[in-house]
Amino acid sequence: MNSPVDKYDAPSLMAKPGGSQFHVMIKPVGAACNLACTYCFYLGKASLAGAPAPRRMSDEVLTAFIRQYIGSVSGDVIFSWQGGEPTTLGLDFFRQIVAIEAQFARPGQTILNDLQTNGTLLDEEWCRFLKQHQFLVGLSIDGPREIHDRCRLTKGGEPTFAKVLAAARLLKSHGVAFNAMACITGTMPDGRWTSTASCGASSGPIDSSSSRSSSTRTLSGRRRRRGTRRRCPATASRARGPVSRTPS
Ligand code: SF4
Repeated sequence: MNSPVDKYDAPSLMAKPGGSQFHVMIKPVGAACNLACTYCFYLGKASLAGAPAPRRMSDEVLTAFIRQYIGSVSGDVIFSWQGGEPTTLGLDFFRQIVAIEAQFARPGQTILNDLQTNGTLLDEEWCRFLKQHQFLVGLSIDGPREIHDRCRLTKGGEPTFAKVLAAARLLKSHGVAFNAMACITGTMPDGRWTSTASCGASSGPIDSSSSRSSSTRTLSGRRRRRGTRRRCPATASRARGPVSRTPS
């Protein structure tokens, strides 16, 4: 008897194996996050009826998802890891991800990874990993300290700008490609967005969205350039079009 179809079968349901192009955003920790930004519309989702308890995606589901996704997409495969805050899963989880991707990549196939993060847990080890595997990082930073710290707070209400700026500098010092993703709020004065570029993100001044190109990694050793566009709150999209509305 066939097993019932569930949401984890989505990649194989959306396309004939190896025959289509689509982009899936993955939330391996659901809505769980180490911050409590005042505008976050996602933290509360964890308490909705029927929502899974915050927890790590199981090894079994992770492997099945990566295998099915790679097998369902023709050409390049883009994994976008989002939250909640995906770095709360720890670096070993992401080491496991790239190992599984390498296991299932077809010859010559390009596998790309994005990571959207609030940056507060990034350290030297994380940055070495992100550089080694050429992740494209979306770093959530709302502009200068006085604006960022109005909304982007810890669960204890502490400001986070200093940590996020330190993360930006660390990413830059390690040569990690990253975008600054900012959330526009009613308190944002005109003309302040240029300060986002000073954090070291390689995008220039931005308004309600930013657009730039970044180098990416390939398992086959080939390199190319790709464009990204990120919008907030929580819309991450690529040149091929918006894919989700996700806070970070
Ligand atoms: S906006 Fe992002 S970083 Fe802030 S609480 Fe929500 S998920 Fe966490």
